[in-house]
Amino acid sequence: MRGLLSWIPIIAVTAISAAPPFPAARPRKSLGQHFLVDNRILARIVTAAQLSSDDLVVEIGPGKGALTRRLLPQVAGVVAVEVDDELAQSLAARLDNPAHLSVIQEDARTVDLPRVVGESSYKVVANLPYYAANPIIRRFLEARHRPTEMVVMVQREVAESMTASPGKMSLLSVAVQFYATARMVCSVPPTAFRPPPKVTSAVVRLDLSPRPALDEDEAPAFFRLVRAGFSAPRKQLHNSLGHGLGIGSIPASQMLQVAGLDGTRRAGTLSLGEWLAIYQVWAGTDDC
Ligand code: SAM
Repeated sequence: MRGLLSWIPIIAVTAISAAPPFPAARPRKSLGQHFLVDNRILARIVTAAQLSSDDLVVEIGPGKGALTRRLLPQVAGVVAVEVDDELAQSLAARLDNPAHLSVIQEDARTVDLPRVVGESSYKVVANLPYYAANPIIRRFLEARHRPTEMVVMVQREVAESMTASPGKMSLLSVAVQFYATARMVCSVPPTAFRPPPKVTSAVVRLDLSPRPALDEDEAPAFFRLVRAGFSAPRKQLHNSLGHGLGIGSIPASQMLQVAGLDGTRRAGTLSLGEWLAIYQVWAGTDDC
């Protein structure tokens, strides 16, 4: 177990030898600190992650360690990335200094992933701070070395958008499903947290595809197309694409027709496969 983590440069692992008095610091709202206190939900998250004893888990925002404590006995190593300096520094001692835990005090939105996980295969398990959930998820999905799976707690609306089907798709749905199969695990009421947030939460599991739907160098153009489609989601697709791509609505209609799609549809009704079909046609034109 030690071997797996021994190469990770540990920025802030603090093994405090004397029993530390953990200051009951006020939760920092600005850091989205809503600590999970419902054991049933903690168990659901761990079960959903389907962990095994050789897994390496990256946990974002371990806080006081409620989830970390449940992850540690199941896996070979946990790398916990916590931006709050007090929580980061006290985490290891709170959990009795397990040898297979390393704590990195950094912002997960900008953390240097190769430095954290190296070449090892890894999973992400986290109760994410809501204010930063989207950029954190995006960072892992777009990383060169992606996790194999992510089990994350987010705001319920975000979870619904990530797992949406055609008819309710958004830019976020397409972006997540481009990289992963997304499934809702459970809904979580505010009473499961201290202090309780104002909104309902949900746990989502993302199984990342070993290869995304397109080659990495094509992703920017693909998302330019999808963003154009969602730039005016109430408009018919030939209009939103025509305007968003700056090609005009008639060429956009022709492009959609070649892709086998009705130009009067709205962006939210398209599946990932249909966006890919439009992209293939657009990529073959001079406009792309
Ligand atoms: N995992 C704990 C639990 O379930 O009780 C705490 C979850 S709390 C919703 C979010 C945690 O993420 C907090 O500990 C907070 O300090 C931390 N956090 C906030 N912003 C962060 C960021 N940008 N990078 C890493 N951690 C962050």
